[in-house]
Amino acid sequence: QEDQMLLSSALRFTSKVSSEIMTPLKEVFMISVTDNLDFDKLKDIYTSGYTRIPVYHNRKDCIVGIVFTKDLILVDPSDEIPVASILPFCSRSLYAAPKGTSLEKLLAEMQASRSHLYFVTEAPGAQVGRRLARVERVLGIVTMEDLIETLISIEIIDE
Ligand code: ADP
Repeated sequence: QEDQMLLSSALRFTSKVSSEIMTPLKEVFMISVTDNLDFDKLKDIYTSGYTRIPVYHNRKDCIVGIVFTKDLILVDPSDEIPVASILPFCSRSLYAAPKGTSLEKLLAEMQASRSHLYFVTEAPGAQVGRRLARVERVLGIVTMEDLIETLISIEIIDE
């Protein structure tokens, strides 16, 4: 019976696609490239509890960077520096996958690119596994945790 369970969740894993397991854009905590990192903004970021914060430009579905919360440790809130000024040395590589990408492919790409956050995009031509300067028409995000959760079919409760 255990084998059967394993098989069925593995099968479900392969038949699902990126958009079915993503965290939708409206639930994603993000910052704008024009935000200033003042006390309130930094507090919002820390209290969100997320490791990675997507950075958008003008529209929330247009992503131009990812900032790691831990990289903001040395930011002085009284300087109120704009997000734009830290992006050049702080932002991580951006990767996207079209909404119909299989989870198998996504897993392989995450391992190859060593990026555990992918943007799911409406753009059909978006190439999986290619580093991008910006991602447009973003629908949501998928992280390694979403993949693992789907594979083992249980909610992973963070400590
Ligand atoms: P974290 O390390 O921040 O806890 P994980 O990669 O472990 O993030 O993902 C946990 C869940 O949170 C996943 O469902 C993922 O899609 C979601 N998630 C990750 N980053 C964000 C974010 N900035 N805003 C909203 N949800 C996020």
